[in-house]
Amino acid sequence: AAPDVLLRIRDLSAGYGLVQVLHSVSLDVRPAEFLALVGSNGAGKTTLLRTLSGLLPIQAGTIEWHGSQSIGGRTPDAIFRLGIVQVPEGRQLFPRMSVQDNLLMGAYRRDDRAGVRADLDRIYGLFPRMAERRCQLAGSMSGGEQQMCAMARALMARPRLLLVDEMSLGLAPIIVDQLMENLTAIRDQGVTILLVEQDIHLALAAADRAYVLETGRIVREGPARDLIEDPELKRAYLGV
Ligand code: ATP
Repeated sequence: AAPDVLLRIRDLSAGYGLVQVLHSVSLDVRPAEFLALVGSNGAGKTTLLRTLSGLLPIQAGTIEWHGSQSIGGRTPDAIFRLGIVQVPEGRQLFPRMSVQDNLLMGAYRRDDRAGVRADLDRIYGLFPRMAERRCQLAGSMSGGEQQMCAMARALMARPRLLLVDEMSLGLAPIIVDQLMENLTAIRDQGVTILLVEQDIHLALAAADRAYVLETGRIVREGPARDLIEDPELKRAYLGV
């Protein structure tokens, strides 16, 4: 039977050396949902993603994948192989390679050539602009297109859970809207999404559910449409 929780985080503490940033964070990611983790600058969102990706050690608590497998102590590579794939902040593409070669790099671990081809076509279907630019050097595209390319490249790894960090940073609102639509379409294809976002309004408008992180603690959680109406959140984050 499919588990009702894909990723289960319980009482997680994490940080840098002796500095504790996350304090007893508990969070569930359910299969095929679009989940947002929102909070101000410095709340600890990136620290949570880094811990999930195996880049930071767990100080206390547990992270369980798929009901049983523990993430704690695994290398970033082992976590990637579980299907937990991050779209990094700041894109980190290969600027002197074409769009298509960047996408193929996302599949470098796979040896099912027919599957890779099929995924390439499917992903070009999701991102028609990338299809148009498949021969262009990635570094010559606009910031929004590079973000799109980074997302498409991550999909080539066939993620079960896609981690997206601060996608909206430095991009024009119209591009950001397009990227949010892309994420929704990716979710509709069955990929679970965890979006980390400072712009709480943007995230709540697109996500199914959300958690609000403040100074390393979860202070709210629920369906995004309920959180949008939460008077305290409106006051604190939306300037209402
Ligand atoms: P942002 O939107 O700026 O990315 P965030 O919510 O992702 O914010 P984090 O980057 O996780 O926040 O940072 C949380 C806290 O951890 C901050 O107080 C920050 O100063 C601290 N921090 C981040 N990186 C380090 C580090 N390498 N060493 C020590 N402290 C750090």
